[in-house]
Amino acid sequence: MVEHLQRYGVISSMKVAEVMETIDRALFVPDGASAYADSPMAIGYNATISAPHMHATCLQLLEQNLQPGMHALDVGSGTGYLTACFAIMVGPQGRAVGVEHIPELVASSIKNIEKSAAAPLLKEGSLSVYAGDGRQGWPECAPYDAIHVGAAAPEIPQALLDQLKPGGRMVIPVGNMFQDLKVVDKNMDGSISIRSETSVRYVPLTSRDAQLRGY
Ligand code: SAH
Repeated sequence: MVEHLQRYGVISSMKVAEVMETIDRALFVPDGASAYADSPMAIGYNATISAPHMHATCLQLLEQNLQPGMHALDVGSGTGYLTACFAIMVGPQGRAVGVEHIPELVASSIKNIEKSAAAPLLKEGSLSVYAGDGRQGWPECAPYDAIHVGAAAPEIPQALLDQLKPGGRMVIPVGNMFQDLKVVDKNMDGSISIRSETSVRYVPLTSRDAQLRGY
């Protein structure tokens, strides 16, 4: 899977290739699913695990902001796959936080992570996953060098902009039917620069009730 993503230019850095080899996607997909196929997959509760090429794209975009010792926030952490990748990249001196609003997914993501190479980081406390509304971010561990949002927001939540460090980067799908993956950089003077990376299709960043009703 990683070789395929490298061949097609989705993965261009060794670090991203390494982390996706270290965190085995098979531990994060539902039992019996074809773990390494390049497509999203239903994980229950009207949520999906993103396709490997989307995980790779987001890791590539955030690589400079996931260096050892840095702080990373994964909003809508779902299966915990990317949260685990972030934790490996920022290492034991860093902090990787997942926020997910379906408590059952929080519980299953913790079980997934416990089986993965990120298990020691979970145990030591540099990696954690919390139940909560990710539109509010997770102020306790802010500010963040990297923020990833795994669900499409109608607009960029102000709380997430506030929790981004100067020099920090957020990757967030924005839109309703038609969505763009936005790269949001907070400059050192606190101003914000935004560009669109590509068109995407994510589940919405919404309330738990709306999601469980089927939107
Ligand atoms: N990156 C995850 C993506 C999961 S899909 C993965 O690959 O496993 C998006 C996730 O966002 C779902 O798990 C959904 O429950 C969650 N979500 C949607 N709105 C949310 C909100 N307001 N707060 C927290 N999580 C949210």
